[in-house]
Amino acid sequence: MISVDQALEHLFSLVAPLGAEAVPLAQAAGRVLARDAVARRDQPPFAASAMDGYAVSGACADPGARLHVIGEAAAGHGFGGRVGAGETVRIFTGAPLPAGADRVIIQEDVTRAGDMITLGTELDGGTHVRAAGGDFRVGDRIEAPRMLGPSDLALLAAMNIPEVPVTRRPEVALMSTGDELVMPGEEPGPDQIIASNTFGLKAMLEGIGARARILPIARDTRASLTAGFDLAAGADLVVTIGGASVGDHDLVGEVAEEMGMHRAFYKIAMRPGKPLMAGRMGDAAMVGLPGNPVSAMVCGHVFLAPMIRAMQGLGAERSSRLTARLACDMPAGGPREHYMRATQENGAITPAQRQDSALLSILADANALLIRPASDRPRKAGEIMEYIAL
Ligand code: AMP
Ligand code: MG
Repeated sequence: MISVDQALEHLFSLVAPLGAEAVPLAQAAGRVLARDAVARRDQPPFAASAMDGYAVSGACADPGARLHVIGEAAAGHGFGGRVGAGETVRIFTGAPLPAGADRVIIQEDVTRAGDMITLGTELDGGTHVRAAGGDFRVGDRIEAPRMLGPSDLALLAAMNIPEVPVTRRPEVALMSTGDELVMPGEEPGPDQIIASNTFGLKAMLEGIGARARILPIARDTRASLTAGFDLAAGADLVVTIGGASVGDHDLVGEVAEEMGMHRAFYKIAMRPGKPLMAGRMGDAAMVGLPGNPVSAMVCGHVFLAPMIRAMQGLGAERSSRLTARLACDMPAGGPREHYMRATQENGAITPAQRQDSALLSILADANALLIRPASDRPRKAGEIMEYIAL
């Protein structure tokens, strides 16, 4: 048996970062920046007022001073002239500071009569000026790789970058296998259940930037599995679910090999999760997951998600782990690394009572996978444990 980390190393060797494509900013959310983005302008491009008030030369800003209002500067409409001694310009937030001015007296500190203002007796010390280039300057960079979030998109827009190079979305084909499965909405026969794993995995992988398509359910026959793999053509990652152990009906590995896959079986010291099958199949990586719904989803978090991130150029890293205080005692753990369905609230984590790997209702109630290392010692409430957020 190999460790989860060793298995992950093997899986990373099956994938490489995909190529880049240009997308408009409005479609770049959740995509991974493939090359550094470089600011095309300074922001603000000019010294700008941060408040509504009166632009003055700081030297004239004595409490009680009287100043002559010689014009107005609004956002998008600067004042063309110069503010001299004894003068001021009415100014609004976002307007360029006129020449000769270096401070804005907020309007609350001013009394105005006609075109004269009198400054208050107690002025706050702030200049209320946003310096030119105070946010960013031409040539400043957003470094790749980076998963673009809402703030990044606002920043890119401000940098006047209308289109960004992003890594192509990994294309994933998801294939359920098994005579017992039907699609949601169909009428199951007496011995049948509904295929669920593909829906969970599709949502998971699309949530981190992949595009996933659910193939028709393959039956436990060579012909059906072969047809399924044919339909997966064009995918970067082919994921099969079920049929991957050594039962009489577990044909996935055999058929995949006949179709050119170099198969490796990884017996992984992990709960839940049976042996995982993986290899290269033509231009795609192929991973065969166990069929048990919770096993498939846990393997998705632990193995598939890091592969998708690696394909997007985000590096070969395991899923990030957080820490929380254990809310209860736990007896010594088993020999395999255990990903326990758990609930994390306000920094305290509680494992679910039932850990059977077929229980989707327990998984749906969980918001964390509590990680117990292999052969873990007994744990006391209050100890700090690692978990993967769900
Ligand atoms: P297998 O790995 O094919 O032996 O399947 C293990 C268990 O998972 C069996 O109880 C299957 O019925 C179940 N199973 C397999 N594939 C799926 C699926 N796509 N959705 C829900 N359950 C599944
Ligand atoms: Mg099966």
